[in-house]
Amino acid sequence: MEEVKEEGGKVLHRVGSPLTTGEEVRGELDWERRYKMMRLHTGSHVLAALAYSKYGALVTGGHISPEYAKDDFNVEDKGVLQDLVREANEVLRRSIEVKVYFLKREEALKIPGIVKLAGRNPPEAEVWRIVEIPGYDVQADGGPHVRNTAEVGELVIMKVEEQGEGEEEDILHGQTMIGSNRRSPRRVIPRDGNSLRGSSGGGTILTRLGLPPGRNPTRPEPSRGLPT
Ligand SMILES: [Zn+2]
Repeated sequence: MEEVKEEGGKVLHRVGSPLTTGEEVRGELDWERRYKMMRLHTGSHVLAALAYSKYGALVTGGHISPEYAKDDFNVEDKGVLQDLVREANEVLRRSIEVKVYFLKREEALKIPGIVKLAGRNPPEAEVWRIVEIPGYDVQADGGPHVRNTAEVGELVIMKVEEQGEGEEEDILHGQTMIGSNRRSPRRVIPRDGNSLRGSSGGGTILTRLGLPPGRNPTRPEPSRGLPT
């Protein structure tokens, strides 16, 4: 597999050698890579949940790779980001079962904070996939997660960055410095600052996985929302 991309709502896989129509192919998931991203993804949700509930900060961008998770928050004081990671690790250690289920759009919209990404409009789909970390976070989310927060292990800070007025450039600069090859970063920068704190600046945390999880990995069943 050389490249995977989305085009017109379809997922395209580019392979290294030519295929003929009707040929049968077998896809194999790179489980090690996927599992690291699942762990960082669930970890990022806990970070975002605490940033929102404790510091009133929203996520303004983010990126997950197998090597690191990058989370941008519109916090006023980047000093809180260190605390945030420490607190997230405390929550992750509580072995909370991650719930994945589906809700109709109108039901989902009744949940406060259902879309924590600053400036992102709620998805238009009629039925939403919900990822809940009971007691901490409920999100409309399409991504793969671990089943239990203990599987994440520990989040370790690689870097904390501060964004000033020129935040877009700073974020891109930060990505270059850590060697990200992401072509089109998903960044939603609040422009008007309505209901957002610290909209003129913000902070970015880069975290990697630290201590191995305290229990054996559990492979999720396909029904738990792995993309096809
Ligand atoms: Zn997510």
